[in-house]
Amino acid sequence: MQTKITIIGAGAAGLFCAGLLGQKSYDVTVIDNGKKVGRKILMSGGGKCNFTNLDISAANYLSQNPHFCKSALTRFTQWDFLQLVNKHNINYHEKDHGQLFCDNSAEDIVNLLVKECQQGSVKFQMQTQVEDVDYDNQFKLYTSKGIIESDKVIVATGGLSMPALGMTSIGYKIAEKFAIPVVPVKAGLVPFTLHKPLLDILATLSGIAIPVEVSNTKISFKENLLFTHRGLSGPAILQISSYWQAGEPININLLPDLEFDSQFQQLLEKNRNQTIKNCLAQILPKRFIEALMQLNLLADTTVKQLNHKQQQQLYKTLTQWTVVPNGTEGYRTAEVTLGGVSTEALSSKTMQAKAQPNLSFIGEVIDVAGWLGGYNFQWAWSSAFACAEAITT
Ligand SMILES: Cc1cc2nc3c(=O)[nH]c(=O)nc-3n(C[C@H](O)[C@H](O)[C@H](O)COP(=O)(O)OP(=O)(O)OC[C@H]3O[C@@H](n4cnc5c(N)ncnc54)[C@H](O)[C@@H]3O)c2cc1C
Repeated sequence: MQTKITIIGAGAAGLFCAGLLGQKSYDVTVIDNGKKVGRKILMSGGGKCNFTNLDISAANYLSQNPHFCKSALTRFTQWDFLQLVNKHNINYHEKDHGQLFCDNSAEDIVNLLVKECQQGSVKFQMQTQVEDVDYDNQFKLYTSKGIIESDKVIVATGGLSMPALGMTSIGYKIAEKFAIPVVPVKAGLVPFTLHKPLLDILATLSGIAIPVEVSNTKISFKENLLFTHRGLSGPAILQISSYWQAGEPININLLPDLEFDSQFQQLLEKNRNQTIKNCLAQILPKRFIEALMQLNLLADTTVKQLNHKQQQQLYKTLTQWTVVPNGTEGYRTAEVTLGGVSTEALSSKTMQAKAQPNLSFIGEVIDVAGWLGGYNFQWAWSSAFACAEAITT
């Protein structure tokens, strides 16, 4: 008799794993609570899906065990996924920092995954909510459409971000049911909200983006910052948000490419007779400089009134702007969930639960979260491959 495998979640990890297993003649069913497969993929990368990155290493991932992801990432790499993308004749392009996006639409990636599933005769049971899982010689999945029995279960239920897309905590519940610890979860790659006095001033800049280097005690990112009507967003902020603890200040360098001794002093020298506002307007948006003045961070004087020490102080103000976020926008807009099924309880080679044979976890449900830039999809592909390979060999 064929081994019956049930995969919970028709997202990136679940679909990829299903195709691989189906093509090795397993009886594979994918269950999902949505109407359509790959809903998050369709929304990703502004509709173009940033499906991987040219430069991937364990350093691009957050996890209580930073080594856990290494094995899977090296056994199914970005080059392996690119080979598949090429096989399906999907056109793509590179954006900043090695990020690869579809030329046409994220739908291309969903179609790729669906075609691979079709080749493996994978069955789909959509609009079916998994509510509980038990084990008694076989797995029993309690769903909104009745009980499903299965020899193997692969949990690919993702994280909690974008609850409007039907995300649930069932993956964590299943883990706990089988005595597998779950690392506390929170929103990652998420915009910051600001305390009211600062927000009142900065919200007027909504839509303006500036290149910055943002840092905290752990890490720094040189990318764009975007002002929004709720606070701060843009790639620099999303990246640092995954490393941020509530109450912690972040440091924003507004002149990431300007050295004091050479360029900044030269700029001041050239504009000696100008006001500070007009001088700085050559390198920063004027409305932002006005906002810094409202915050009493800049004086309303002329450049020539500044002595050397005051020039240094001005440079320091612009390169060490300290902001204490009020919080984050939470799962509603987060791109990823930090934490999840503890890597301690899983084999990094097979993604199988150490304590429960035939039960595996793949993708974002695990305590592995990537940076912005295609890293989360690569984790979905790599962990799904590791799981499928272990079952089929
Ligand atoms: C707006 C947005 C844009 C993003 N853009 C990118 C990007 O460009 N590049 C990148 O690398 N990453 C991106 N990400 C992150 C990436 O989408 C996820 O990391 C990835 O989709 C995780 O794949 P997964 O298969 O583990 O989970 P998911 O894709 O989340 O799939 C999980 C599936 O399980 C289903 N499910 C959950 N609970 C149940 C239940 N109880 N019963 C039945 N089904 C259930 C869900 O409906 C869902 O279909 C983005 C995320 C968001 C929110």
